[in-house]
Amino acid sequence: MSAPRRAPGSGAAPSGSSEIETLIHLLARLPGLGPRSARRAALHLIKRRESLMLPLIEALTTASERIRPCSTCNTLDTVDPCVICRDPERDVTLVCVVEQVGDLWAIERTGAFKGRYHVLGGTLSALDGVGPDDLSIAPMLSRARGGAVREVILALNATVDGQTTAHYLAERLSGAGIAVTRLAHGVPVGGELDYLDDGPLSAALIARRDFG
Ligand SMILES: [Zn+2]
Repeated sequence: MSAPRRAPGSGAAPSGSSEIETLIHLLARLPGLGPRSARRAALHLIKRRESLMLPLIEALTTASERIRPCSTCNTLDTVDPCVICRDPERDVTLVCVVEQVGDLWAIERTGAFKGRYHVLGGTLSALDGVGPDDLSIAPMLSRARGGAVREVILALNATVDGQTTAHYLAERLSGAGIAVTRLAHGVPVGGELDYLDDGPLSAALIARRDFG
């Protein structure tokens, strides 16, 4: 990747070599980091070369080399099948369908769910041109219809696209002899699972109800 060209007077970076600017530029592309916090993060890393920057480089390299989507559930892990899919203690008859890996992590943090997951990788969206083939929907359906699954929990976000996707999946699963449920309550409209506190999320999961 080439270093961003410095525009005089642009105010992008007060000073420093193009390497420092590249670092700031890349950090600013992370979610939640604007140019200002990216500059602070860059300085923080440079000052803590041994204790932070080098371990971070190593962690990033390992992550980029070893983390892959699970061929069963589409979550991210360094082993395939993932740790959750290969755990014999987890109920194989119960599959919780989520949009993103972050949603799976949010549910795992509650400790309230002992089944398996399926990560769609997003939601259907006419506006953004996302159709069923762009998501892990076909593998989810064949998994659900494979015989072992007894209940599919649609734990999708309370956004318009999340609910459109949930209705689409419920329709595709109807007549397959599988219970299709959704989270009971506590998910605010437009809210995202990952931002929900553990309490309301586990309550919504435990008190789940039939989809429809
Ligand atoms: Zn898996």
